[in-house]
Amino acid sequence: MSENVEKVECLIIGSGPAGYTAAIYAARADMKPVLYEGMQPGGQLTITTDVENYPGYPDGIMGPDMMENFKKQAVRLGTDVRFGMVTKVDFSNAGGPHTVWVDNEKEIVADSVIISTGASAKWLGIESETRLNGSGVSACAVCDGFFYRGLDVAIVGGGDTAAEEASYLAKICNKVYMLVRKGEMRASKAMQHRVENLENVEILYHTETDEVLGENEVEGVRVVNNQTGEKKELDIKGFFVAIGHTPNTGIFKEYIDMDDQGYIITKPDSSKTNVDGVFACGDAQDKIYRQAVTAAGTGCMAALDAERYLAAKGH
Ligand code: NDP
Repeated sequence: MSENVEKVECLIIGSGPAGYTAAIYAARADMKPVLYEGMQPGGQLTITTDVENYPGYPDGIMGPDMMENFKKQAVRLGTDVRFGMVTKVDFSNAGGPHTVWVDNEKEIVADSVIISTGASAKWLGIESETRLNGSGVSACAVCDGFFYRGLDVAIVGGGDTAAEEASYLAKICNKVYMLVRKGEMRASKAMQHRVENLENVEILYHTETDEVLGENEVEGVRVVNNQTGEKKELDIKGFFVAIGHTPNTGIFKEYIDMDDQGYIITKPDSSKTNVDGVFACGDAQDKIYRQAVTAAGTGCMAALDAERYLAAKGH
């Protein structure tokens, strides 16, 4: 081992609700967790505004403030939170420990590893969408739909997420335009029927986004029919993008079993991966629920699983 190698009992990769909850439990279990925050400290919640669906905050809380609270709690209990990005791993040592590199240089040998690297929403990649992000543009209807109560909104996408979020928005909003780029949806038949039967959802097929309109907040969207070239403007206040997520799991691919979209496969009713001593929680392994509270729940599971794993190894 070179001088630059550090030995850690429990290494947590990622700083969203899953990672910090794992840290809180691991610290209280005296596992001396070291947590690397990654590229977006605090995770996806740092790009949302009010969080009203996380239990324990009767008046709601701003996403970044909530993540600061998660961090303070983890630190107070003894987590070593560090700024840095895990850039490479070697999980080939079957009985552990496992090796991880931070920022391409620092080498850490960890008895247990908890992956909580989350997922990133996909975006259309147009300028107006980026500029108005957080000012009417959102990638999470369940997080932000409430702010458009009684108003007209649009949602882009034709998958299960878009269909599910469109029906969620339909309950809150006056009218929901669903913008589907093909002549059909990719969502399951059941989900398609569900949105087709909602009176206040209008599905626009062969429709793509030309520009989200508005200077400081969303005032509409200009869409284009990709068959006829016809453009029209929709008068909306909220613009939701639901075109999928990408789990941040690329660096683990060589060792960890994943589904075809890159979500880590955990063993039933646990956070265990196919590699002993490596556990996964949060959105990196969840494409269905993707909520802060479910991520926190699986973070707790990962810490408990890691604790039992280490105890069985005599730690
Ligand atoms: P999907 O990848 O399934 O669907 C993405 C949708 O977005 C597709 O309709 C796609 O169109 C569209 N899209 C992609 N890029 C663009 C773009 N640049 N412009 C316009 N439209 C675009 O993602 P989901 O998040 O919907 O689902 C992910 C996985 O999670 C799926 O396996 C899904 O079944 C699952 N899921 C299951 C749920 C459940 O069972 N309750 C709930 C939510 C998700 P196109 O079809 O033309 O490529």
